[in-house]
Formats: sequence, C-alpha cells, structure tokens
Amino acid sequence: MSAQILDATKATSYLKEYPKKDGLTIKQLIDSANFGGLTYNDFLILPGLINFPSSAVSLETKLTKKISIKSPFVSSPMDTVTEESMAIHMALLGGIGIIHHNCTPEEQAEMVRKVKKYENGFINDPVVIKPDVTVGEVRAMKERLGFTSFPVTENGKVGGKLLGIVTSRDVQFHEDSSSPVSEVMTKDLTVGKQGIELVEGNELLRASKKGKLPIVDSDGNLVSLISRTDLQKNQNYPDASKSFHSKQLLCGAAIGTIEADRERLDKLVEAGLDVVVLDSSNGTSVFQIDMLKWIKNKYPDLQVIAGNVVTREQAAILIEAGADALRIGMGSGSICITQEVMACGRPQGTAVYNVTEFANKFGVPCIADGGIGNIGHITKALALGASTVMMGGLLAGTAETPGDYYYRDGKRLKTYRGMGSIDAMQQTNTNANASTSRYFSESDKVLVAQGVSGAVVDKGSVTKFVPYLFNGLQHSLQDIGVQSLGEMRTKVDNYEIAFEFRTASAQFEGGVHGLHSYEKRLHN
Ligand code: GDP
Ligand code: GDP
Ligand code: 5GP
Repeated sequence: MSAQILDATKATSYLKEYPKKDGLTIKQLIDSANFGGLTYNDFLILPGLINFPSSAVSLETKLTKKISIKSPFVSSPMDTVTEESMAIHMALLGGIGIIHHNCTPEEQAEMVRKVKKYENGFINDPVVIKPDVTVGEVRAMKERLGFTSFPVTENGKVGGKLLGIVTSRDVQFHEDSSSPVSEVMTKDLTVGKQGIELVEGNELLRASKKGKLPIVDSDGNLVSLISRTDLQKNQNYPDASKSFHSKQLLCGAAIGTIEADRERLDKLVEAGLDVVVLDSSNGTSVFQIDMLKWIKNKYPDLQVIAGNVVTREQAAILIEAGADALRIGMGSGSICITQEVMACGRPQGTAVYNVTEFANKFGVPCIADGGIGNIGHITKALALGASTVMMGGLLAGTAETPGDYYYRDGKRLKTYRGMGSIDAMQQTNTNANASTSRYFSESDKVLVAQGVSGAVVDKGSVTKFVPYLFNGLQHSLQDIGVQSLGEMRTKVDNYEIAFEFRTASAQFEGGVHGLHSYEKRLHN
C-alpha cells in the first residue's frame, strides 16, 4: 500500500509539526566539530525566505561601544595596508581605517590629521593669510596643502577682520608672482553670521553659487569657513563614517603597549583620533591592561579596541580592564605563521564564536580579524557573532594601500607583508619598532618571524572594491532571509537561522569544478 499523500496546500503548516528542523543551530554547529576548531570554510548557512530587495539590507553595525558605522569593514593597521589614503576611503565608504604604527609618532599623527581634515562641516581652523602674502606664495601653499582657497584677514589669523578671500581663479592667470593678494582677492563676499546652523550655512552657500562661505561675527571677524566641496563629498558618500557635529571622517590608529606609546597616543589624540587599537598579537599582557586603564583614565572619551584575543578567558580580562571593543584572531591571517611557530592560536570560526558569545553579553562589540578571503567569510564572521571584520590581505594590492606597483611574470603586483615578518620587524624608527612590540620581541637578539612578506595582484581602487563587498554582503544576507545585521544576530541566537557542517568533499563541491579552464572575475 502506498504512503498517504499529504495535502500540498498545507505544506508549511505541516512543517511546524515536523519532528526535525533542517540544519544545525549555531551551538550544534560549534559542537559538531567535536574536539576540533572550525574555520570559515568548514560550514555554511542555510537559505531563508526572500521578501525584500537586497538594496533594503542594512549593514549598520557597532565598531565599539560608542561608535556605529554603516558598513562592517575595517582595514588592518599594517604598513602595506593602511595609511591616510586607505583610512580616508574606508571612512568615506562607511567603514573605518586603522593607521599602522610602523613609523614615527609624528608621521602617524600627520596621517591622522590628514584624515580628519579631509572633510568638514564648519572648518574651524582654516588656513588664513595676511593681505601682503604674494601670489607666488599662495601658489606654493596650494602645492603644499592641497587646497587653494584662503580667507584673507588683517592679522592673517582666524579671529582677525575678514578682508577678502583668494581662490585658485584669482591667481591662476596672474602673471606677476610678487603681487600681494590684496590686489587679486575677491572683496565682495557672501558671508554667514556666527551662530548659524550648518544646514543654514549650507543653504546660503548653495544659493550664493560660490565655493566658500566665510562665517563672521558681528564685527566682521572671521570665525570659520564652509566649503562647497564638502557638500559634494557628503552627496557622493552618503554612508561615510563621520563625527556627528564636526562632519569630519572617523579615524582609527594603532599603538603598542610600551611606555613610549603613551606619548605617541598624546600626539594622535591631539591630531583628532577617534579610536585607538592596542596592537598586540596576544592582548592579555600586563602591559596592555596597564595601558588600557591609563588611557581610560586620561582620555575617557577615546574608544579603545583591545586585543588580540581568541578565548573567553582572555576576553574577560580585557573587558574588565575597560575595553570598548575586542579584536579577535591569532594565527588566522593570510601572511601569518604564528600557529606553526608558536603553537598558539585558534581556528578563527571557533575563536569568533566563543569570544563574541561572551563579549556580546557585556555589550562589547568584536572585530573578527584575519582570514577574511571573500564575501562569504565576512557573512560567516558576522553570523558567528562579530560586529565588524578587519581585513589586511583582501584590501592589499588596492590603489589606496602604501607602496608602489611593480611587474613580475607579466602581473602588476604590490607588496603585502605580515607585521611579524622579518622585513617589517627590521624597519628602524626613532621609537621601538611597531612590529617587534606587537610580538613582544623588542629585546630579542635573534628575531623570530611570525609572518611572511609576499606580493598580491593589483585589485584596482577600494572605491570599486569596497562597494563590491558591500553589495555582495547585502545579497548574502538577502539569501539568508534577513534585512539587517541586527536581525541576523537575533535569528542566529534564537536558532531561527540554521547552519550546516561542510565536509571536505562538500567544500570541493562548493568550488568551481569539472571545467577545463575558466576565468574568475569577481566584479565589473
Ligand atoms: P544628511 O542630510 O543625510 O547628509 O545628514 P547629516 O546628518 O550627515 O547632515 C546634516 C546636515 O549637514 C545636512 O544639511 C548635510 O548637507 C550637512 N552635511 C553633512 N556632511 C557635511 C559636510 O561634510 N560638510 C558640510 N558643509 N555639510 C555637511
Ligand atoms: P579649495 O581648493 O581651497 O577651493 O578647496 P577644495 O574645494 O579643493 O576643498 C578643500 C577641502 O579641504 C575641503 O574638503 C575642506 O574641508 C578641506 N580643508 C581642510 N582644511 C582646510 C582649510 O584650512 N582651508 C580650505 N580651503 N580647505 C580645507
Ligand atoms: P588577513 O586579512 O591578511 O588574513 O590578516 C590580517 C591580520 O593578520 C592583521 O589584522 C593582523 O591581526 C594579523 N597579522 C598581521 N601581520 C601578521 C604577522 O606577521 N603575523 C601574524 N601572526 N599575524 C599578523
């Protein structure tokens, strides 16, 4: 006798009484590894119901207790990944860059300053000149500073009486370089009154069709400046990570945990730093705990990301010492040989699950750092509990990374190196080297490498690559059936999102196979 055929119109109601749910809960997944650790490649997430477009998926997330950003992407503090250009673009694109510290404190502070100055609401400390400055000097200032408009005041300072403004058009075709700017400047100015809101100032600027709007007090003294370029930047990058009031881009920087790093931090804070990363391969050291407490006492408003950690025990120590976020990962980085050499570390999937499961209870967001090789890895890190991902290798080779391209074997390449590579550790600075301090090797006579130095292929600009990651991640969450990272978190915790363990043959099946040849293009 054949089995009874069920009523097809009741299939989904029938499922509610079905004895077994497809896939594994997150807890079962972690347990399914028995006594082994999971990497991102060892599991998959089962699909859900799509009833919204991928463009409706919000990727807003917390970087630290007090900082929210629109996309969960953080660039790594490595000297072949993040200097000012990467930090500016990561922030414009909704993430954040962490400037490396394998340089002098002055160089690092200058990079932070450039990120903070890149976009402004009111420019409160504009470069101002006196009326007797020459046209030639203005041209030289343009070369040096990158912008060309200078308010002219009686004393050449903010607070002085505003006499005019000189812009590139005023000096462009003026042949006599020795003329004072008072001869070429525009004197008939549209100005805003001190105390106006930024929105009103912007309106005035738009209506005036000018490039700059000087703001003056009731006596005509210069207070600040608004620039049309900034309105354009705001329009071009609506998701940019910015301070609420100043509209300046958010900027992060890394420091070590030796005594000299306290002075370094003072310089970075003076330059406008928003968030500091304490950069140690093993974050649970007395040096880091002392540093964390010192910072929280001296700069209570500065957000501090502590780490790295891979266990709950490590996390507990740093959470208690005041960490505003944790950075998770030991040995999972693409350039890293720590697990081989030190026998210490943890598979990244297991590390991210265990640390975040604990830290999230205390409202401490976590960064999954290292081993992110594609969009799927990003989704998995976030599904396991991370709030953001930190990327080195995936961003390496883009135009915004430090270093020059070179050709080898017909390919356009850039160097990408571990901060624990011999190359990076041997870079000499006035201060202790960032790489040696990250790996507690400052006093070693024989350096022990924990990373390698290599090359990566040209990836174009992050202005294309990061939007590819962003759109891809939106599609990934759409496939899972969630409209935000918050919803994904809740549904994973409530066991509404299911996982599947991925055997070695499943991994083979999930890759391209059975073709004679193919080209792997990731985006247009
Ligand atoms: P938005 O309107 O979605 O951009 O919201 P925001 O809160 O970022 O901006 C509030 C106001 O500040 C709006 O009038 C924006 O045009 C303006 N604004 C945002 N960013 C900047 C900026 O970098 N410079 C200037 N001058 N105005 C900005
Ligand atoms: P211009 O060449 O001076 O007309 O300036 P741009 O139109 O190229 O824009 C200058 C950019 O630099 C804007 O995003 C400003 O917010 C930024 N900026 C930062 N500090 C200053 C400053 O002191 N003066 C000026 N003019 N711009 C500044
Ligand atoms: P990736 O994104 O390339 O997989 O990994 C980047 C991360 O690897 C960095 O953010 C940092 O945590 C870690 N890292 C950077 N340099 C080294 C190194 O030389 N050795 C080790 N063990 N980790 C490194």
